[in-house]
Amino acid sequence: MRCVSRKIFSISVFLAAGYLTPVTKAQQPASATVFEGARLITGDGSAPVADSAFVVENGRFTAIGRKGQVKAPAGAAHVDLTGKTVMPAIIDAHKHLAVTRDALVDQLQHFAYYGIGATMSLGQDTGDEVYPVRAETIPNAARYRTAGRGMTGPEPGRSQAPFWVTSEAEVRKDVDEMAAKKVDIIKFWVDDRDHTVTKLSPELYRAGIDEAHKKGLRTIAHIFTLEDAKGVLRAGIDNFAHSVRDKDVDDEYIKLVKAKPNFIVDPNLPDRGVKADRSWLRDSMPAAEFQKVQADTKDDPKAQQFFGIQCRNLGRLNKEGIKISLGSDGPIPWAAHEEMADMAGCGMTPAQVIVAATRNAAELMKLTDAGTIAVRKSADFVVLDANPLDDITNTRRISSVYLRGSQVDRAGLRARWTSGRTSR
Ligand SMILES: [Zn+2]
Repeated sequence: MRCVSRKIFSISVFLAAGYLTPVTKAQQPASATVFEGARLITGDGSAPVADSAFVVENGRFTAIGRKGQVKAPAGAAHVDLTGKTVMPAIIDAHKHLAVTRDALVDQLQHFAYYGIGATMSLGQDTGDEVYPVRAETIPNAARYRTAGRGMTGPEPGRSQAPFWVTSEAEVRKDVDEMAAKKVDIIKFWVDDRDHTVTKLSPELYRAGIDEAHKKGLRTIAHIFTLEDAKGVLRAGIDNFAHSVRDKDVDDEYIKLVKAKPNFIVDPNLPDRGVKADRSWLRDSMPAAEFQKVQADTKDDPKAQQFFGIQCRNLGRLNKEGIKISLGSDGPIPWAAHEEMADMAGCGMTPAQVIVAATRNAAELMKLTDAGTIAVRKSADFVVLDANPLDDITNTRRISSVYLRGSQVDRAGLRARWTSGRTSR
């Protein structure tokens, strides 16, 4: 108990000393706000708090508990959330985003609209424009992290945004170049693209992982086969950006992963191959775009089979207690919601999916102040009209989104996107 109050004391000293940047200060409500009455899912896997109350001050959570037990600071505003459910803002740790600032900011605002508070672009970020975006506090926008340019073997016909490496000297030089840009993680692709290209050899990924670790950087691999998964695990890889896709994983693989207690697998499931109802997106985009988005989803037996392998592998990893995070790949800002539903269809409980999509994804992105609703963390949360622990698709029933303690202007964003004033 004494420990807790000391922590609270030191935060107020920290805040009183004015260490927050002026930009952050200007965008946050001046006084404290108490949010009361919601079912609170904190994102750490613990049981939800019924009839909760929590205080947000200067963009951070400063007190969390039951209604009536949390002391509201004098003059605090009150927000009644009776009947709602609150969960941490979702974190999508595997995307591929725009490399120009304006396009990227537009994407980050789409993420915020859909309740995603942070995202990481994994390995195709050319140029230098995106790096400073990481340090910015952009109103109504998710936070951003990047792997810069990742490393792969030559892939003729595919993107040259990643480095195409053919020698140990090259891969070390490319990792060093990314380290100099202070990327958040180093990405490797180990994939022969259905036997059409030469994949990164064990010699090259070993050198790349070694160089990244020498520079104090963590690594993440896109893998396809069980054999390559074991290879990169033996070479010291820290995370997977996909799960094994060619066959069901075996005991040896599980043992290799379990030998690394901090290892995180972002399963990044493929298309489920089942026609989906996307009507929940209708309001947020122009009618023509919605029609396209809905038409994109269809029943596909071949896709279902491919999904089946990865779904079984996710179920096994989850049963073995291996740490799983959320990552939905590609640029689509709302994809995280379908990914979560797919994860829940593969043996994870909704509560486990939420931990993967909040706390664990924050850990993968090394965001120490996000991912859970806890004192001192950034006040990034989603208010839902229905309980996602009953049905994970209730994460789509968003009432409001708060990032850094400020409510995201969803109505304003929606008006902008549906009036056709932006080209997206
Ligand atoms: Zn990817």
